[in-house]
Formats: sequence, C-alpha cells, structure tokens
Amino acid sequence: VTLTTAVELAYLLSAVLFVFGLKKLGSPASARQGNALASSAMLIAIVVTLLEHGVVNWQAIAGGIVAGALIGTLLARRVAMTAMPQLVAVFNGLGGGASALVAAAEFYRLGGPTAMDVTGGVTIVLSTLIGAVTFSGSFVAFGKLQDLITGRPVTFPLQRTFNALLFVTLLAVGVALALGGAPGWAYLALAGLSLLLGILLVIPIGGADMPVVVSLLNSYSGLAASAAGFVLGNNLLIIAGALVGAAGLILTHLMCRAMNRSLANVAFGAFGGGGGSAAAASGDQTVRDVDAEQAALVLAYASSVVVVPGYGLAVAQAQHEMRKLMDVLEARGVEVRFAIHPVAGRMPGHMNVLLAEADVPYPKLLDMDEINPEFERTDAVLVVGANDVVNPLARDPGSIIAGMPILDVDRARSVIVIKRSLSPGFAGIDNPLFYLEGTMMFFGDAKQALSDLVREVKEA
Ligand code: NDP
Repeated sequence: VTLTTAVELAYLLSAVLFVFGLKKLGSPASARQGNALASSAMLIAIVVTLLEHGVVNWQAIAGGIVAGALIGTLLARRVAMTAMPQLVAVFNGLGGGASALVAAAEFYRLGGPTAMDVTGGVTIVLSTLIGAVTFSGSFVAFGKLQDLITGRPVTFPLQRTFNALLFVTLLAVGVALALGGAPGWAYLALAGLSLLLGILLVIPIGGADMPVVVSLLNSYSGLAASAAGFVLGNNLLIIAGALVGAAGLILTHLMCRAMNRSLANVAFGAFGGGGGSAAAASGDQTVRDVDAEQAALVLAYASSVVVVPGYGLAVAQAQHEMRKLMDVLEARGVEVRFAIHPVAGRMPGHMNVLLAEADVPYPKLLDMDEINPEFERTDAVLVVGANDVVNPLARDPGSIIAGMPILDVDRARSVIVIKRSLSPGFAGIDNPLFYLEGTMMFFGDAKQALSDLVREVKEA
C-alpha cells in the first residue's frame, strides 16, 4: 500500500465516522457518543494530514493546538446554555474566516490571478467569497445575540437593490479573477466586498431570528470549507464541509417549519425587532392568579401532569427544581411527562439538553406530535416559562404567528402557567391562553416558583 492509498483509506474511515456521528446526534440518548465518534474522526484526519504533508513548522502547530484546546475547554465550561447560539455563531465565523484565509494563502502562494488555472481560480474565489460572508455575517449575528449591537432590524432605503448590486459586482470581480483577467488588487476587493455583503445580509434581520441565521451561516461555513477542500485538493475537507453544509441547511429548514415561516420571510421579513411592539394588550380581561399552595393542590391531586418547558425555564436555570418537582409528584403516583416543542427555548434541542442535564429520563420527553392528542385527556398542564409555543392565536389566520404549530395546552382541563408577568414572549404578542377559564397564573421566577411547589406538594 502506498502512502497515498493509506491516507485516502484513513480519510474514508473518518468520513464514515462523521456520518455515523451525525446520525447519533439525532437522539439525546446517543448524542454524546455521536460527538465522541465525530471528534475521533477529526483527530484521525488531522494526524493523517500532518503525517502525509511535510510539516513546515511543528512549533506553530503545537502552539495552535494548545491555545485552541485551552480556549475551547474554558468556553465549554463557562458559557451558559442560553448563550449557546452566539457561541455557535463565533465558531461558524471562525470556520468561514479560516476557509477564506486558506484560499488567500493559496492565491498568493501561486503568485496571483495570472498564475492560476480556471478550476483553481474558481475554487479560490468561492472559498474567499463564502468564507468572508460567513465570517462577517456571523460576527454581526454574535453582536446581536450578545446585545453588543441593536437587535432591531437595521434597514435603509433601497437596501435590497443595493445588496443585489453588490452581489452582482462580486460575481463580476470573481469571474474576472478566476479567468485570470483581473489585476492583483481585485482579490483584495473581492475579500472586502464579501465582508461587507456578510454584514449587510444580517443587519436587517431582527435579533430574535438570529438562531435561524446562525444555523444558515453554519451551512455556509460548511460550503466554504468544502470549497477550501477543492483549493487544497483535500477530499476529506470536501466531504466534511458538505456534511456541515447539508446539516446546517436541514436544521434551518426544520426551524423555519416549526415557526411556519419561509426562509425568505426570516431573511427579509424584518421580524421580531426585540419585543418592541407588543400587540393590543388585552384591555379589561382578567386572569386568575394562584399561589404555590393552590397550584400544588392541583398538581398533587392530578393523575397525570404534562409539563411544557420554555425559554423562561432555561433563563432561570430551573431544570434541577423541575426534576425535584417531578420526583415528588411521581412519589405520590402522579404520572409526569414533558411536552417538547421543536423551537421551545432559543435553539433546537434546547429543552432536551436542559432536562437531560437534570437527569430527566429521555422517554418522558415527548415530541409535539406525540403529545398533542393527549392534552384533552390530561388533568393538569404546567407551563414553565413558555409562551409562544403554547399560544392558541397561532390558529387564528390573522395573527403574526398564524400557522405556527403549537402545543394544544388550552385543550387540557386545567393549566398552570409559571412566568413573572403577563409580558409577551419572543414573538411580542399577547397570549389568550392566560385569560382562559381553566388557566391559573402562578407569577414568579421559574426557579423560585418550582422550589415553592416542591415544598407545597410535599405538604399536600
Ligand atoms: P417565549 O420567548 O415565547 O416565552 C418565554 C417566556 O418566559 C416569556 O414570556 C417570559 O415571561 C418567561 N420568562 C422569562 N424569564 C423567566 C424566568 N426567570 N422565570 C419564569 N419565566 C420567565 O419562549 P418559548 O420557549 O415559548 O418560545 C420560543 C420562541 O423562540 C418561539 O417564538 C420560537 O419561534 C422562538 N425561536 C426559537 C428558536 C429555537 O430554535 N428554539 C429559534 C428562533 C426563535 P415573563 O417575562 O412574564 O417572565
């Protein structure tokens, strides 16, 4: 076996491990294993690549590995679950930036536009363009999610026309470069204009839609990596990039579907300006508010309780109290299950990860389609810091969340809602569920409210 064959076989093994790793990420029960598989695949790929190519500077590589591992470990330990979307945004941005830099290095190593063949030129141009758009777009998304820049859509007159012109100019510069008919500075123009395009594409999108944008940029970072794979003639990078590209696109599609919005609506809808315009407050409608003791009685004497966790549970970090409440209720013979909406929280899988952290067994977590028919037969539903995902207005064709699939909580006999006030959620609209006859509002911070419930259920 020649070295090249051995390397290609090792790459094949890595590619297969990547695919199985991704597959295992599909269920919380096997996700850790999936992560382990995919990272071993990456380790194999890196080692093999280093062995195959003569390494110019081992110290620089070792330094990079140590610094990267330190930063990675620190971030993984420090970053709160609610801040995960912006962390992913940074990762995507760096991935895109790396691909653009690889292309730039290759461009200058070859000696500029006239020295490239067309195939090389096209891949270098694509890798630079997509990589730079991903880089700047991701950092704008990060800024919006981290509140460093305004979460409101930033728009200006003729924005789309301007963006379209910019894109056409970019294509023209790219084609000229690839065909070898452009001066050397055109490459810098390509990189600069791509960075500008990335910023302009993301600023008109509201902060609340950023998780979808992050998922889309994730897909772009994969495409950029794939293009860089073509630049370097590295098959595994092409495959890995394609996998990331496809996975990101599928996730983007799932998120849009769970909100019943098209990608075009997310990209151009300027929706969710950061809670600005709460729709018509419900005037003189009244709500029934209850204290911990009253709420505990409802739960303790129910035969089955369905819990709907939402963003508020995550912000309050109340997952462990949630688990304790489940334990005391089950000790009394109450059946407790969790209804998981696909976009509850601020990223897909948010609730699954949160509850898994508190060791809530996976079989108790039911998807929207599984649990929806059960609500009519459920004695009590406990909504903890969720709002839009249980908003019956989604069934009203005139509402801005019209058609968003929701958990049919309003069909249960009684509903207890834990949240701090009547404020709207992400979509910025009022929720008629709160004013229904069978609904009890238990106002308070989710963590405090749940620990009060645990105490009261024990005494009930
Ligand atoms: P929402 O944002 O609709 O509502 C969360 C509620 O939690 C708020 O109304 C808030 O009310 C309450 N809350 C906040 N802090 C606390 C606290 N400390 N204790 C108790 N309650 C608290 O969340 P949902 O999970 O219902 O819906 C998610 C929304 O995010 C959907 O609109 C979805 O489309 C969107 N989204 C989700 C993505 C995903 O992938 N998961 C991606 C992009 C968007 P109050 O202030 O009164 O306490």
